[in-house]
Amino acid sequence: MIQLFQPLSYLGMVYRELRQSTIDIEMMFDIMSQNPEVKDRPGAKQLAVGKGEIRFENVFFHYDPRRPILKGLSFDIPAGKTVAIVGASGAGKSTIARLLFRFYEPARGRILIDGQDIGAVTQTSLRGAIGIVPQDTVLFNDSIAYNIRYGRDGASDSEVREAARLAQIDRFIEGAPGAYDAQVGERGLKLSGGEKQRVAIARTILKGPPILVLDEATSALDSFTEREIQDALDRVARGRTTLVIAHRLATVVNADEIIVLDKGAIIERGSHAELLERGGVYAAMWSRQYEIRQAEEILRRAAQAE
Ligand code: ADP
Ligand code: MG
Repeated sequence: MIQLFQPLSYLGMVYRELRQSTIDIEMMFDIMSQNPEVKDRPGAKQLAVGKGEIRFENVFFHYDPRRPILKGLSFDIPAGKTVAIVGASGAGKSTIARLLFRFYEPARGRILIDGQDIGAVTQTSLRGAIGIVPQDTVLFNDSIAYNIRYGRDGASDSEVREAARLAQIDRFIEGAPGAYDAQVGERGLKLSGGEKQRVAIARTILKGPPILVLDEATSALDSFTEREIQDALDRVARGRTTLVIAHRLATVVNADEIIVLDKGAIIERGSHAELLERGGVYAAMWSRQYEIRQAEEILRRAAQAE
């Protein structure tokens, strides 16, 4: 009986966690699907991070040799700049982020950070240099302060408050019973998706990584929440080398370069203005999203008028 009961209750627990969305599902799959074959090479060195320039050099990748996923990808993200990757679902966008974290290794080609092949450095030093802001953030059933300080153990109270301020979550926290000591979770403070994301941004600000990866989930936030967090995201990206897997129009518009990926290959690249001018795939994506946005706005006004 016990043998049957335990797995079920475990599944129940996982299910409840997922329901409460305290786990970033895509991240969890990424962690579970980590390839255990990817290990530090003997004598791997620490990554010596300078300004955080990223270079993909003719990168080929497949999960299954019968199905190529990335087909000779080359691009640079100069230090401190932002590159956005857009494209249909399944194009290979998240795979690019997984390769940068070295969850997998390219079949051919190289990925370099400040001139060092990421395959030759320790995973700890590589992942320590990269911050990620997922759309659905893992929050611990602990205090707000703990949840922010998770970005950097040993940060002082005033550093935690400063990070919260920059992430624009300070007012919300100060208004909660217990403020920074308020407990998060089932019995405590319930945070909306946008609030959780701002906690994640505060965490990342505290971590202070030279490289930032934003893999925005496809389920878009509503446009109000989107505007609310855009400023905070812009702030955390400022001065950091940023790779955005973009669904939000605002992040795309401001990127230094936009790469349009289709079936694992780059089909268009340039600034927002250049790509609109070109009138290709990106321009079509943009006007489609723009129309959806307009329709949403009209529906929202109609609802308010009732
Ligand atoms: P995107 O983020 O652009 O939607 P992904 O990079 O997640 O696309 O996936 C690219 C392709 O690789 C998809 O066809 C997906 O089904 C496949 N894929 C993703 N992860 C795995 C995996 N762990 N094993 C096998 N195929 C995968
Ligand atoms: Mg993806």
